[in-house]
Amino acid sequence: MTIGIWILGDRLTTKQLSLSNNQSNKQQIPVIFIESSEYVKQHPYHRQKLVLVWSAMRHFAAELEADNWKVTYKIAADFATPLQDWLATNNITELQITTPCDRPFHNLIQSLDLNCEIKFLADNHFLWSKEEFITWANSRKRLLMEDFYREGRKRFNILMDGKKPLGGKWNYDKDNRKPPKKNLSTPSPLTFEPDAITQEVIDWIKQEKFSDYGRIEPFNWAVTRQQAQQVLTYFVQECLPQFGTYQDAMVTGEYTMWHSLISPYLNLGLLEPREIIDAVETAYYQRELPLNSVEGFIRQVMGWREYMHGIYHFQDENYSQSNWFEHHQPLPEFFGDASKTDMNCLHQTLTQVEETAYGHHIQRLMVLGNFALIAGISPQEIENWFHSAFIDAYDWVMQTNVIGMGQFADGGVLASKPYAASANYINKMSDYCGNCHYNKSDRTGDRACPFNFFYWDFLHRHHERLKSLGRMNLVLSHLKRISENEFGEISSLARKWWKNQQIS
Ligand code: SF4
Repeated sequence: MTIGIWILGDRLTTKQLSLSNNQSNKQQIPVIFIESSEYVKQHPYHRQKLVLVWSAMRHFAAELEADNWKVTYKIAADFATPLQDWLATNNITELQITTPCDRPFHNLIQSLDLNCEIKFLADNHFLWSKEEFITWANSRKRLLMEDFYREGRKRFNILMDGKKPLGGKWNYDKDNRKPPKKNLSTPSPLTFEPDAITQEVIDWIKQEKFSDYGRIEPFNWAVTRQQAQQVLTYFVQECLPQFGTYQDAMVTGEYTMWHSLISPYLNLGLLEPREIIDAVETAYYQRELPLNSVEGFIRQVMGWREYMHGIYHFQDENYSQSNWFEHHQPLPEFFGDASKTDMNCLHQTLTQVEETAYGHHIQRLMVLGNFALIAGISPQEIENWFHSAFIDAYDWVMQTNVIGMGQFADGGVLASKPYAASANYINKMSDYCGNCHYNKSDRTGDRACPFNFFYWDFLHRHHERLKSLGRMNLVLSHLKRISENEFGEISSLARKWWKNQQIS
């Protein structure tokens, strides 16, 4: 039997089993990387995302080669042609691959007609394996992220004081929702100049026009494990102490604030979840950092990320087509060109995404996702956009994050109520409304904020359905304060808004 290893673009780590199991034989084991131009054309990916993935792949391939692995790097239209050639040239009888996290890609590999056995090895890039999560989920009457997170804290002994959570509480989220103050002094993000490999990828993407979405330069992301480790160290040193307090705040021109910016590297395999958690927990003990910041951050990695991954595999393939509210509106053109909206919150957030392929969790959930939900955009269209636009987005994380959490399209598998909000929330948590064409307080009239008329229209038109969710009762009781006449105006504004939209 001759083994060959195919390294996938989102598993750039020597810790994956195909590499770690064969380490002692590395000089004899062929390893292949493939960039497929046909595959990336399936989505209108942000151009910086393409640069990141391909540059990180090329750097990782060079590192393996320098470590004496027998590396082949192919740039091709499809995956099958270079694979077949390489299998034949090297007489490979068993192709080892880390089981792809994304279901569509797993299906694609299984559909390839290859003249050898394909052996999928367990993906060890999460704290919980798929099987462990499924066992946990099957033992529960309800699936709550908070329950799962607490189980993880105990299981991996993180921020624990014996059997109790450190500080006496599991969750310090209440301390992590401070609105922005004026003149916040935020740290600059750590940036990296493109080296020759990255510049070559940038030029290639420009030349081949794989996508026209998003600004390609300046490109300042890390592309190697060593650089990603620097980003982690910088975050722990400079940003973590303040991270919690303002993690939900949004400020014009402040793209990163105290956010870690490590999710692109974590999802590519350049960083491991456990090393991130350990670095943050160690800093807590060594520097007596605020527990709300440390716990809030660890919850994102150990709770939220693991939970999204687990639910994705716990649900079947049909989950991606969920549409509980039966929303079918198309994606407005401004999602592809931020200059085409005069709603300042959307304009600021979409401009930032165009420039950097990044937005933090509240910009994603409460500006972009919230707007799509209350305006009635198809969950599949908005999920496709998120997947394409964000630098850290993959199928496994976007299905659950957008379809489940942002759009509540799964009817409550993942969240206990929809994340729907009017301008009130955006005004409280940002400075966007002060510079907007619309009036944040109006739900009717010429300057009514679309977040207001869409919010009330959403509650009104889905009233019956929402009544089945206990946590919505208080919100729904506010509907009584609005007359039927006003609902008529609200609904007519919502219809008029859609009539005036250009569709992307
Ligand atoms: Fe957004 Fe409305 Fe505020 Fe304008 S007024 S920034 S549209 S929430």
